[in-house]
Amino acid sequence: MRYLILLFLLAGPLVAAEDRFLAEREALVGEIEADVRATRSYLDTETLDAAVLEAMRSVPRHRFVPDDEVEHAYENRPLPIGHGQTISQPYIVAIMTDLLEPAPEHKVLEVGTGSGYQAAVLAEIVESVHSIEIIEPLGESARRRLEKLGHDNVQVRVGDGYYGWPEGAPYDGIVVTAVASHVPPPLLQQLKPGGRMIIPVGSRFLTQQLVLVEKAADGTVTTQQILPVRFVPLTGGHD
Ligand code: SAH
Repeated sequence: MRYLILLFLLAGPLVAAEDRFLAEREALVGEIEADVRATRSYLDTETLDAAVLEAMRSVPRHRFVPDDEVEHAYENRPLPIGHGQTISQPYIVAIMTDLLEPAPEHKVLEVGTGSGYQAAVLAEIVESVHSIEIIEPLGESARRRLEKLGHDNVQVRVGDGYYGWPEGAPYDGIVVTAVASHVPPPLLQQLKPGGRMIIPVGSRFLTQQLVLVEKAADGTVTTQQILPVRFVPLTGGHD
C-alpha cells in the first residue's frame, strides 16, 4: 500500500508533464493548420492529410531537441541540434510529409536524419524508413533515440546521402532535408516509377525552392516548385 501511494506521488508530476506537452502539441497542430491555410496558394490545398496531422500530433518533438531547447520544442520554428544543424520547422516537416502522399505500404528514404524527427513522423505513417546522416554523432544519437521511442521500422545509416541507399531501393518516396544545387541523379534512380521526391533546391545563400519531383510509371520525370524555403546545405564530396 505504501508503495502504491509512493507510485501515485511519483506518477502525478510525470503525467502532468506529459499532459503539458500533449496540449502544446495540439496547439502546434492548430498553428500548422493555420499556416497551411495561409499558404494554400502555394500548396494547392487548404488542409493536410489526416494521417499527417495525426503523426504530428503523436510524435513527441521535445524528445528530439537538446535539453536546453525542450521548453521551445513546440514552437513552430527550427531549433539548433548541435554541429551547426537544425531540426526543421514543424510546418515544413508537415508539408513535406504531406507532399510525399505517404501510404501504409510505402518504403521511404530520408536524406539528412538530423535529430530523427522527420523520420519518426514518416514512420508513424509508412511501412519503413531508411534515413542517412552524414555527421556521425548526429546519426548515432538519432538511431538510439528512435530505438528508445520504439520506432523499429526506421533504419539509420551514417554516410553521404547524395548517393542514396541503393540496398533499400526502390523507394515510393524520398525526402531530402538539406538544400542541394540540383536533384542528385542517384536519388532519382532509386525512386520507384510512380514515386515522389521532395527536395529543397537552390543555393546556400540565395533563394531555395521546395521542389516536388514525380517519376511517372513510364519513368518520365517532372518537377514542380512548391514554395520558397530555407534549409542547411547538403554537404559531401559530390559537387
Ligand atoms: N530531418 C532532420 C533535419 C536535419 S537538418 C530532422 O528532422 O531533424 C539536415 C541534416 O542533413 C543535417 O543533420 C545534416 O548533417 C544532414 N546532411 C547534410 N548533407 C548531407 C548528406 N550529403 N548526406 C546525409 N546527410 C546530410
